[in-house]
Amino acid sequence: MSMPDAMPLPGVGEELKQAKEIEDAEKYSFLATVTKAPKKQIQFADDMQEFTKFPTKTGRRSLSRSISQSSTDSYSSAASYTDSSDDEVSPREKQQTNSKGSSNFCVKNIKQAEFGRREIEIAEQDMSALISLRKRAQGEKPLAGAKIVGCTHITAQTAVLIETLCALGAQCRWSACNIYSTQNEVAAALAEAGVAVFAWKGESEDDFWWCIDRCVNMDGWQANMILDDGGDLTHWVYKKYPNVFKKIRGIVEESVTGVHRLYQLSKAGKLCVPAMNVNDSVTKQKFDNLYCCRESILDGLKRTTDVMFGGKQVVVCGYGEVGKGCCAALKALGAIVYITEIDPICALQACMDGFRVVKLNEVIRQVDVVITCTGNKNVVTREHLDRMKNSCIVCNMGHSNTEIDVTSLRTPELTWERVRSQVDHVIWPDGKRVVLLAEGRLLNLSCSTVPTFVLSITATTQALALIELYNAPEGRYKQDVYLLPKKMDEYVASLHLPSFDAHLTELTDDQAKYLGLNKNGPFKPNYYRY
Ligand code: NAD
Repeated sequence: MSMPDAMPLPGVGEELKQAKEIEDAEKYSFLATVTKAPKKQIQFADDMQEFTKFPTKTGRRSLSRSISQSSTDSYSSAASYTDSSDDEVSPREKQQTNSKGSSNFCVKNIKQAEFGRREIEIAEQDMSALISLRKRAQGEKPLAGAKIVGCTHITAQTAVLIETLCALGAQCRWSACNIYSTQNEVAAALAEAGVAVFAWKGESEDDFWWCIDRCVNMDGWQANMILDDGGDLTHWVYKKYPNVFKKIRGIVEESVTGVHRLYQLSKAGKLCVPAMNVNDSVTKQKFDNLYCCRESILDGLKRTTDVMFGGKQVVVCGYGEVGKGCCAALKALGAIVYITEIDPICALQACMDGFRVVKLNEVIRQVDVVITCTGNKNVVTREHLDRMKNSCIVCNMGHSNTEIDVTSLRTPELTWERVRSQVDHVIWPDGKRVVLLAEGRLLNLSCSTVPTFVLSITATTQALALIELYNAPEGRYKQDVYLLPKKMDEYVASLHLPSFDAHLTELTDDQAKYLGLNKNGPFKPNYYRY
C-alpha cells in the first residue's frame, strides 16, 4: 500500500489546511467489509494552549479548567439520577468488587449497576445505527487486540459506544473528561460489565488526574489507541508516559479544544502518532453543534427558569452552527431574536434567515435573554451586565466559561443568591437582578440532557475513526492530523437514515456520468460546505 498523499482542505483556515483526507477508496477496503451498507443505502468504498501552556505539576490544573474546558462538544449528565453528595467517602477509599469478583475499576457505587444498565438500554433504543454497526462488525472483530484508553463524558450514550468497541474486540479503560459529567449509575453498570472505568460525578481536581492515570498506568496492560475528548488524556500520556506512544497506533479526538491542541503539536513537530479530527467531520459539526443545540437550548432554559419564549426579546451572540440551532428553536417559539456577529458572511446568513443583526450595545437594555455561542471570550462584559434590565437571563452555549465575564460579577457591591441548582441571581445595589445560569458554563451541558440520537451520530463517527486508525497499514497515516474520509461521513449518515424510513434516490449510470460521480459516493467534493 503506498503512502497516501497529503490533501489540504481548500480555504478552510490555517489549521484545517493541515488536515488531510484520503480519497483512495481502495485504502478503506477493510472498513468496507466491516461496514457493509444496508440495501438501498450508500455502498461503502466501491463495494466495497499549546502544550507548553499545560500545567507543569501533576494535578495542578485549575479546577475551573477541568470544568469548563473539557470538551463540551459532547455531553454530560446533568440529569444523572444519582448524586455524589449523599456519601462523603471518596470512591478512592472504598473497596468494591463487581459480581465477578473484579475490582479493576473505581466508581461511586457498584450497587447502582442495575439502574445504570437500564439507562444504557434506554439510550440504545435511540442509537440503532451504533448497534447496527456493532452487529455488522461483530463477526470480524475489527478491534480485536485494540487496547483503547478513553477519556470522555461517561453517560449512558457513551456507554453504548464503549460497549460497542468492546463488542468489536477492544479492551477499554475509561475515565471522565469532566469532573461533573459522569452518570454514576452508568459508570457502575460499565464496571459491572467488566470495563475498567475510573470516574464519578463530583471528582476533585486531584481525583480527575488520578482517574486518568489509573487508566494509562497499569501493569501488564498498555494502550495502543486513544479516544479523547478535550485533550487531557493525550496531554497526560505526553507528559507522564511518553513511551506509551511507541505502541499507540492513533488518537481520535472529538472536541474543538482537543483538536486545536493536536494541530499545535503537529505544527511544532511534536505529534508522534496519527490523529483523527472527529470534531470537523461533517457528521459531527453539522449535526451535533446545530441540531443538538436546537433542541437543548430550550430544555436548558426551561428547566432552570420556566421562562416563556413567546414575545420575549433574545439576543444570540454568534451565528455559527450552535447559534443557528439556538435561533431556529427560539424563533419557532415566537421569540424576537437579535444576532450579534463579527463575520459578515454569518451576519448575512442571519439577515437572510430573518433576524436583525445588531451590536450588543444596541439591544442590551431591552432584551430578556442573552445567549453566547461564539467560542470567544469576553463577549458579554461587566459593562453589558450593568446595563441589562431587571430579570434578564444570561447564559452561554459555547465551549468554555470565558464568553461571559463572570469574574467581573464577583465584586463586593453585588450580591449572589443561589435560587436553584445552577441558577444564581446577581443583585445590584439598586435591587436589579440578573439571572445567571450555570455560572456562565455551557447551559445544555450543565442544566439539561441532550438528544441521544445526535450522540449516536458522533459516537458512530468515533467508532469508525478508531477502526480505521487501528487497522490502517503502516504508512497510510503519518504523524499528523487527519479528517475522516468523506465516504465515512456519508456512511455514518446512511446508517442513521433507516430510523426515519428515509429512502435515498440512487443515481442512474447516466446521471452519475453526467455529474462525474461514482454511484456509491462520495457525492460531494471536499470543499462542499453543506
Ligand atoms: P462557529 O465557529 O460555527 O460559530 C461561532 C460564531 O461566533 C462564528 O460565526 C463567529 O464569527 C462568531 N463570533 C466570534 N466572536 C464573536 C463575537 N465577539 N461576537 C459575535 N460573534 C462572534 O462555532 P460553533 O460550532 O457554532 O460553536 C460555537 C461554540 O459552541 C464553540 O465554543 C463550540 O465548542 C461550542 N459547542 C457547543 C455545543 C453545545 O452543545 N453547547 C455543541 C457544539 C459546539
